[in-house]
Amino acid sequence: MENNTTTTTKWNFKENEKLVTALGLTVRSVLNNLTSCIDPADTRFVISLGHGDPSAFPCFRTTPIAEDAIADAIRSAKFNGYSSNVGILPARRAVAENLSQDLPYKLSPDDIYLTSGCGQAIEVILNALARPNANILLPTPGFPCYEAWAGFTQIEMRHFNLLPEKEWEVDLNEVESLADDNTVAMVIINPGNPCGNVYTEQHLNPVITLGSISKRWIVPGCRLGWLVTNDPNGILKEHGVIDSIAGYLNISSDPATFIQGAIPQILEKTKDDFFSKTVNMLREDADICCDRIKDIPCITCPSKPQGSMFAMVKLHLNLLEDIEDDLDFCTKLAKEESLIILPGVAVGLKNWLRITFACEPSYLEDGFQRLNAFYQRRAKKQ
Ligand SMILES: *Cc1c(COP(=O)(O)O)cnc(C)c1O
Repeated sequence: MENNTTTTTKWNFKENEKLVTALGLTVRSVLNNLTSCIDPADTRFVISLGHGDPSAFPCFRTTPIAEDAIADAIRSAKFNGYSSNVGILPARRAVAENLSQDLPYKLSPDDIYLTSGCGQAIEVILNALARPNANILLPTPGFPCYEAWAGFTQIEMRHFNLLPEKEWEVDLNEVESLADDNTVAMVIINPGNPCGNVYTEQHLNPVITLGSISKRWIVPGCRLGWLVTNDPNGILKEHGVIDSIAGYLNISSDPATFIQGAIPQILEKTKDDFFSKTVNMLREDADICCDRIKDIPCITCPSKPQGSMFAMVKLHLNLLEDIEDDLDFCTKLAKEESLIILPGVAVGLKNWLRITFACEPSYLEDGFQRLNAFYQRRAKKQ
């Protein structure tokens, strides 16, 4: 080691513009900016149709099974210690059994890596796949967390379109033209966020599945997710992907042990009626959402949501006075109506909006009333 040389490297963390853009446009940061635009003089309560977390609404409270399981795990005093790097065995076994219900073969606990929410699973897999010249195929619109991590790990991002007129299916021709020998992964989100679509089985054949209990069990604060390797032919193992994942998890922190302790009870005991109640609630909300959209000429929904809790709607700027783009629309909407909606640009689709409909129906109706009032005021005069 020579210590008399001076370094000429210039450190500039703003150099990578894509990275800065990706970080500046995370859903969270855009929503925070919109919230700061709310007029403090408006005495009405703030309505947010921009969130991804319905847990605060009484109709979307998690099941008592989950609440009891977590309390039991803490009271047992068995889960106060450190976890193992991949997650404790009973928790991995429970996740393997639960996910195997929907598969033609059985997953083993060794296929399961527990993470702090699905968010950390994204971090883990992108770090595990990163290598010089690697590229990844990402959907537009998509989930910005992938862009942010791809930026950090310096994996080149290539975007393929989801087709609104085909229920947001992947443009497969485009995928074929983008992929090459350095393509390490293609991201598929099902049910769709931000589009609310559900893919056919035929359309899905991913080899690594990321997921979490955040949305289905409505406990996003619990931070328990998973990365699952579906590798019956040992291809991932042969290419070193498995070692890379385990290696990354060795140095990264684990989901809280008590929530891992609770997971077998949560997964085994939650009855179908909890999920069907949630799905029925979401269906009612989606119906309200699509009906009210029809009353507001400046937005249209090309494809009714079939899953998830989001609808992507197209914004028709030509019908509006003095609105520059989707971000301008959402900023003025927050200022004038104390209503928060996510601009499409935050999920990669400019001049669209992502509307979250997972809330109390009356709250959703109030939100659409404000949206309509805003449109009436801003509509272009003939
Ligand atoms: C909600 C969501 C996540 C984050 O999940 P957590 O379990 O809360 O970390 C990641 N990707 C998509 C597509 C999501 O909808």
